[in-house]
Amino acid sequence: MTHDHADAGVERYDAVVIGAGAAGMMCAATAGRRGRRVLLIEHYTKLGEKIRISGGGRCNFTNLHCRPEHYLSQNPDFCRSALARFGPRDFTALLDRDGIGYHEKTLGQLFCDRSALDIIALLKSECDRGGVHWRMPCQVEAVERAPAGFRIRTDRGRFEARSLVIATGGLTVPKIGATPFGYRIAAQFGLAVVPPRPALVPLACGPEFLERFGALAGVSVDCVAMCAGGSFREALLFTHRGLSGPAILQISSYWQAGEVIEIDLLPQRDAAAWLLGLRGSRQRLDNLLAEAWPKRLAQAWCEAAACCQPIHTLSETRLRQVAYDVAHWRIVPSGTLGYNKAEVTLGGVDTRGLSSRTMGATAVPGLYFIGEVVDVTGHLGGFNFQWAWASGHAAGEAL
Ligand SMILES: Cc1cc2nc3c(=O)[nH]c(=O)nc-3n(C[C@H](O)[C@H](O)[C@H](O)COP(=O)(O)OP(=O)(O)OC[C@H]3O[C@@H](n4cnc5c(N)ncnc54)[C@H](O)[C@@H]3O)c2cc1C
Repeated sequence: MTHDHADAGVERYDAVVIGAGAAGMMCAATAGRRGRRVLLIEHYTKLGEKIRISGGGRCNFTNLHCRPEHYLSQNPDFCRSALARFGPRDFTALLDRDGIGYHEKTLGQLFCDRSALDIIALLKSECDRGGVHWRMPCQVEAVERAPAGFRIRTDRGRFEARSLVIATGGLTVPKIGATPFGYRIAAQFGLAVVPPRPALVPLACGPEFLERFGALAGVSVDCVAMCAGGSFREALLFTHRGLSGPAILQISSYWQAGEVIEIDLLPQRDAAAWLLGLRGSRQRLDNLLAEAWPKRLAQAWCEAAACCQPIHTLSETRLRQVAYDVAHWRIVPSGTLGYNKAEVTLGGVDTRGLSSRTMGATAVPGLYFIGEVVDVTGHLGGFNFQWAWASGHAAGEAL
């Protein structure tokens, strides 16, 4: 086959972006608006599904208090540069320009007033402004090196580009399009991948726990959850399968199989001072704890600890022990509820092989990884979308 023959029917672009999610659309629009000829390829039939289902349909699209400390990565400094160059206010400026309403719910979390669909429409119109070309749905069959960049073979044609951007996200919620494509491309080009695992995910507990606390499904309580250096003061929710709620979702990103999660169930008081101060009281301990907790939790917890009795019948040593246990409740979850219930994927393309300024692979000129496929994972509260915007923007500026 002659060179000319092999090239017949190949469309040429400056950049091909694979994955039209949050990061991919931001990247394509940024590069397009800089005059680059960009093709965006998406294999799923619906655009921006993860954005649509996020934040209960209102998309918690950023967080005003976004800082590198809100991200987990083998290299905690990696996210610094991109976040510094495209922060929450840069994203809200786009919403302001288009008159899209939003509000702060709590702790700096910004949500759409109307619907997450506003964010999808905004990104789509940004791509239109940048003259971005689309193939959707479109399956990528192979990616290979070409003399002037990369060749991408798909079920809807062959494309060649100087730059290739992988924006295919993590493994969460496979039924709306998640695939391990990005990790495979990383491996194909010799980049390391930090083993992925579900994060911001409810935790499952074993039969002994469920026997004692399974009936509390739906009950929630303020707590501090701690594990492996992470500590979150938020609500904990009992479920039929174990534990959930913001405190548990947050700490799940720090937890590894077999580890203990320690929970302070009385963060608002000094448990020892409170209980010992009432040492002579005839009040039952479960009734006392019900002043701070939902009644059913107080009952179940005291039954499990065999201390449903008047406080004056408990020795000082026993009361001290109970106070300690209330503030250091130790749980060993049996596992997570997996990628179907997780909000993000921890791990991903190892940042040691990427430039923190451009997201480009240092050993493979022209190859970029952005968004969740990279080993940068945000806390709950809008941080993951902010990383998608910032990393997409960084690559879009570099293409
Ligand atoms: C239920 C839920 C709620 C969430 N809520 C929030 C929230 O409120 N705030 C927040 O900050 N984060 C939230 N997140 C996390 C957030 O959605 C992700 O971190 C973010 O979407 C990541 O952006 P991304 O562009 O990297 O990946 P994605 O948005 O997942 O986009 C990846 C795209 O690539 C496509 N793709 C995959 N494989 C291929 C392939 N082989 N070929 C072509 N295309 C492919 C996918 O179909 C998808 O369109 C939520 C996640 C879930 C699951």
